[in-house]
Amino acid sequence: MHFYGQNYRPPFEAQSLLLQVTTGCSHNACSFCAMYRRTPYTESPLHEIESDLYEAARFRPNATRVFLENGDAFGLPAKRLLEIAELIHKYLPNVTTIGAYASIKNIIPKTDEELKQLAVAGYAHLNIGVESGLDDVIAYLKKGTTLADAREQMHRLNEANLPFNVNIIFASAGPDRIEEHAIACAALVNEVQPKLISVSPIHADFGTPLFDDIASGKFKECTLGQYVEEEILFVRQLDLKNDCGFFGQHVSNPVKVGGILPRDKEKLIEWLEAGLSAMSPELRNSHPRKGAEGRPLYA
Ligand code: SF4
Repeated sequence: MHFYGQNYRPPFEAQSLLLQVTTGCSHNACSFCAMYRRTPYTESPLHEIESDLYEAARFRPNATRVFLENGDAFGLPAKRLLEIAELIHKYLPNVTTIGAYASIKNIIPKTDEELKQLAVAGYAHLNIGVESGLDDVIAYLKKGTTLADAREQMHRLNEANLPFNVNIIFASAGPDRIEEHAIACAALVNEVQPKLISVSPIHADFGTPLFDDIASGKFKECTLGQYVEEEILFVRQLDLKNDCGFFGQHVSNPVKVGGILPRDKEKLIEWLEAGLSAMSPELRNSHPRKGAEGRPLYA
């Protein structure tokens, strides 16, 4: 298998077959992220992807899900994504769904017809870095799109029957706007009805604009306790109509919870409240900021 540069996947894709189709991230500009800063964006040639699938057919012949690497693999043109799906189904006939990291920016250039074709080809549960339900926060995080774009593009995915997950970054509006941010994020999620919600606290990679803003005091960080308070407020506001996973179990989540909404809503709140009460005052008042070596101080 060919793997170049940094490779990341969501924690809940641990069982998926990883197939590298791009290197780096085509956006590579979010204010908190340095994951691919030193990795030029490139697209893998089709013959290399086919050779990896030929190999995968021998060691994972029964794979049912493929996750395309890397930072925003759904940014590939629809034609290329359809060619990749055709190859996946040729070599791995048991595959039913194909996932990838996706940004709102990746969806905009695709036509409605292309989104429908991608859904029919198996693309499902794209992992979208929406991050926030507040326009100014999305702009501050330098996502390159607006809240209106996010709403419109996720509605387009729903119309195309292409299911998706959303990532929300709590504490990204700072400690003075916890309630406003929780309510805005929940309103967005309730409107677009994703299949999974993944939440984690804001973090700043070393060398990013956000890291510098934290160091200079321009961006005020929430404490870990305030982060959990925001998560509780968010869950309280959720109104999911169909089964939707809730994943708050990233290594950076101070209180790790997960479940299925709407069924587990009250349990999630109960677990978060219990976790908050159990946090030591020291942990509750600490910040998710990173040290000079990039290691979270609370790890
Ligand atoms: S957060 Fe995602 S879209 Fe933004 S720069 Fe990092 S990998 Fe790219």
